[in-house]
Amino acid sequence: MSLDNGHNPIAWRIEQMNERVRSAKEQDLYLYLQPAEAVDGVHVTINGRKMLQFASYAYLNLLHHPKIQAAAQAALEEFGSGTHGVRILAGTTRVHVELEQTIARFKKTEDALALSSGYVTNLGAIAALLGRNDVVISDKLNHASIVDGCLLSRAKFVRFEHNDMAALEQALGEAPKDAGKLVVVDAVFSMDGDIINLPEVIRLCRKYQALLMVDEAHSLGVLGETGQGIEEHFGLENGIDIKMGTLSKTIPSVGGYIAGSAELITYLKHSMRAFVFSAALPPASAAAAKASFEVIQEEPERVKALQANVNYFIKGLQERGFNTLNSATPIVPIITGDDERAWLMAKLAQDNGIFVLPVVAPAVPNGSSRIRANVSAGHTLAEIEQAMTVFEQAGRTVGVLPT
Ligand SMILES: *Cc1c(COP(=O)(O)O)cnc(C)c1O
Repeated sequence: MSLDNGHNPIAWRIEQMNERVRSAKEQDLYLYLQPAEAVDGVHVTINGRKMLQFASYAYLNLLHHPKIQAAAQAALEEFGSGTHGVRILAGTTRVHVELEQTIARFKKTEDALALSSGYVTNLGAIAALLGRNDVVISDKLNHASIVDGCLLSRAKFVRFEHNDMAALEQALGEAPKDAGKLVVVDAVFSMDGDIINLPEVIRLCRKYQALLMVDEAHSLGVLGETGQGIEEHFGLENGIDIKMGTLSKTIPSVGGYIAGSAELITYLKHSMRAFVFSAALPPASAAAAKASFEVIQEEPERVKALQANVNYFIKGLQERGFNTLNSATPIVPIITGDDERAWLMAKLAQDNGIFVLPVVAPAVPNGSSRIRANVSAGHTLAEIEQAMTVFEQAGRTVGVLPT
């Protein structure tokens, strides 16, 4: 097959995407996939230019932490760079089991399982739990990996308006009485930075006898007095049946986990295709993740610093006239409206030493394109001020703020 074949819709699709990328590159507005030459704390060096990092998920600034670094190195020495196996066969090491026990303790559950990506964790767990006659009810702004898991599960897939509890109740009420029901939500929404109304979600799940799964990708280490996540934030316990999270956001590693009852974890370990048929996490990554959970508990001042920075950053942006939606977390959208302004504003910010990226459709709804700025525990107030000054100037130049 030739990719020039104009009659083939697959070739056409490929061509359309290439056209979009080419056009952005021609205007010098293509900002994705830039290789970093150095990443240290809150800085990133690209093309020889050191910029302040406002685009990564290093919420607690844990990259290069000595304890985490040492744990990864020790596991690399002890077990080598890979496992040559899936978990259920040759791929389980002592380090994997220790990581899972650490996660279970941290999330206050009986057991946990870890696998090699957060994306695949959502995909695999949702697909393993549900069948054709079940109903899965998902917030409209849930992460793509949840959406894909719902589609893969072949259950009836119902989406409710974002964080709208009346809409959730309606969806629960409309589900057939004898269907298995699963409600899935993000704890913190990855594009808007707002927090799910967990107490009400739990109440509704109990009322309608639905299981509840919560994705804590952006709440682990972020929410709650000691960074334990969304339940600590709301002062709740035991309301979430399936606690999902990633090892790639606050935690400077890679992978995903599910924490829950021992029975749930046993079920998933034997039925989740992504667990049974895909290789184990590299031991060094598992060891780094385990050490990270310990560091979060040993250094609670990091969580405090993050939360203070979040408040300072959001307040400062709002005072400057930016629309930051309902963000209450380190993910802070700066709404630009159209794609063009988002591209231009990110480009101007980068030219002035602040590394942020634009998020445009289809990742967010048309007309709500944005810069997504992420603040971390590692930023000083002076650095946050510096970033906000750059955003303000860029916002005026591209017409997001009045001149
Ligand atoms: C990033 C993310 C994931 C996927 O995690 P990875 O570890 O990057 O694969 C899942 N859910 C949410 C909400 C995320 O933001």
